[in-house]
Amino acid sequence: MTEQGSEHSFDSLGLDKHLLVALDALGFEAPTPVQADTIPRLLRGTDMVARARTGSGKTAAFGLPLLQTIDRDKKVRGLVLAPTRELAQQVTQALRSFDPKCSIQAIYGGTAYEPQLRALRKGLSVVVGTPGRLLDLLDRGSLNLSHLQFVVLDEGDQMLQLGFLEDVERIFDAAPDDRQTAIFSATMPKPIRALAEKYLTDPDMVSIGGKGPSVDHIEQQWMSVPHRHKTDALFRMLESHRGIPTIVFARTRKSCAEVATDLAKRGLGADALHGDLSQAARERVLTRLRAGQIDVLIATDVAARGLDVDRLELVINYDLPSDPDSYVHRIGRTGRAGRAGKAISFVAPKQGGFVRDVKRRFGIEMERLKVPSDADLVRGKRGALEAQLEAVRDDAEADFHAAEAVDRLLSSGEWTPEQIASAALHLLAAEKGVELGELPDDAPPDWVRESKVSKGGKGWDKGSPRHDRSGPRPRPDQQAQLFIAVGRRHGVRPKDLVGALANETGIPGGRIGKITIMDTKSFIGLDSRDLDKVLRARRSLEIRGRQAKMERAR
Ligand code: AMP
Repeated sequence: MTEQGSEHSFDSLGLDKHLLVALDALGFEAPTPVQADTIPRLLRGTDMVARARTGSGKTAAFGLPLLQTIDRDKKVRGLVLAPTRELAQQVTQALRSFDPKCSIQAIYGGTAYEPQLRALRKGLSVVVGTPGRLLDLLDRGSLNLSHLQFVVLDEGDQMLQLGFLEDVERIFDAAPDDRQTAIFSATMPKPIRALAEKYLTDPDMVSIGGKGPSVDHIEQQWMSVPHRHKTDALFRMLESHRGIPTIVFARTRKSCAEVATDLAKRGLGADALHGDLSQAARERVLTRLRAGQIDVLIATDVAARGLDVDRLELVINYDLPSDPDSYVHRIGRTGRAGRAGKAISFVAPKQGGFVRDVKRRFGIEMERLKVPSDADLVRGKRGALEAQLEAVRDDAEADFHAAEAVDRLLSSGEWTPEQIASAALHLLAAEKGVELGELPDDAPPDWVRESKVSKGGKGWDKGSPRHDRSGPRPRPDQQAQLFIAVGRRHGVRPKDLVGALANETGIPGGRIGKITIMDTKSFIGLDSRDLDKVLRARRSLEIRGRQAKMERAR
């Protein structure tokens, strides 16, 4: 598959007649974008770092200039480094088809030395090889790289992944300094950029696909989340990014509304933006978001079209987008106006292909994130509280009034400064729901251990039926009631119950049914099997600082 459609012709790139004839015979009518972009520059002798993926026509992009540039004198003048034997063979074949008269040999491991040595003894112009065997022959004195004029590192990111970068450096070191060097890679991870910096001279940076919207400046990450645990994962991500303006993408209006409700049950305020809203309601939501009155928006692709809010810093793909365009569109909601941005995608076990595809297509790295543990959540909240305290400390006026109050307490002789600070912090933390005691478990939630991501699998979300978020909702005939010995008198709100139950027992918020809070007790509707599971695991639950007994309601 190639990217055709450039207005250039091969004739205009500066290629020699014999190469043009070969291209014509191969049926290459017009250069691909990567070829049109790189061939003239490489022919001028420039070093180059090109971001181009397989299928872009990259082999001809570096192969044609290499073949045209090098001398033909039975010395090894051109070298292409390939990460695998298959690629080395493929590149060799392509180069031979461009210039059948040039002596070109593939050199790779796992096969007999003799034919490769014989070819070297006879005299070769171009070697296409994998690093291990090349170094081997170099060390034995069978390969001389001191006459190289043109060196290409192909699929640099693959080379890095396979751990060959050090070998590549040793090979670069063996080549003369005045050679021309090009690095081609589908993605540009740091070590590749560092390699370029160390070994290339004033290279041109070429990025194919750079004409489309760029997503390079957005930090892109992913997290493995089975479908039925997405709400819990979302809750954890939002809790650990408190105060950060976020847009969450869900596939349908219905799931948008459900996610907003589930979050609300857990005490997290979020507005939904979907096609069912009237224009006025939509405007209200956006005004609240712009003004910073809400930080989390749940939206469908359609509803987010044209959304123009500069303050968004985080995009969460709760449901994966359906195609690359939609991915770019979604994550482009953040990182606007020169700001940094971050995008996190929830990838279900069978959607591993998504990560691979995004990396290749956009030439970016995607870091895998861990699901925040309970301890991470508490740390996040403490961090936010401390940041708020700092802001107040630095605000002179607030300081002045508080200082007067502190003086009053101190002059009563009944307080030490530490006692005042501790008491005030205690009150503040209680009000903000921040735990100050020992950190909870740092282990990831139970469900994380169950989930495995396959490397393959369908990538983009085409909206299959297994997409059902939270498993079956409780049917009335299976519904049972959990009794719990806390109520209004203890300050209990529905979100406390849902939050504690979901966090402590792993039952997704979406499966928790009706909640009735009475004066000293509460009832929670649960699927009968879920209820059994809860009571098997534990007989009490900590709610608002008190251990409350639980049992099946009669
Ligand atoms: P590559 O990205 O180098 O692996 O090339 C992918 C495929 O596209 C190979 O089969 C090439 O033979 C073919 N190809 C490369 N450039 C062109 C072109 N300008 N026109 C037609 N096919 C091409």
